[in-house]
Amino acid sequence: MRRKYSPFKGQRFLVDINPLSKIIHDLDSEKKSCNISKIIDPHIKMFDTMSQVNHYRLLNSGYELCSVCFKNNKTK
Ligand SMILES: [Zn+2]
Repeated sequence: MRRKYSPFKGQRFLVDINPLSKIIHDLDSEKKSCNISKIIDPHIKMFDTMSQVNHYRLLNSGYELCSVCFKNNKTK
């Protein structure tokens, strides 16, 4: 579920930049177990497209796609 308010700003992909997490979520396929509400604002980075996400992953190693919301997702 996308959220219009800050820091989500209605964008689709959420990157949890917590060094202990480093997970990318697709808010259009979000499930309860993604625990998006537990991610604190300073750890949230938002992107509109998967190509922007992939670009970020090229520059920042160690990021994984969330196994819950990317499970049946063709953009993987
Ligand atoms: Zn997820």
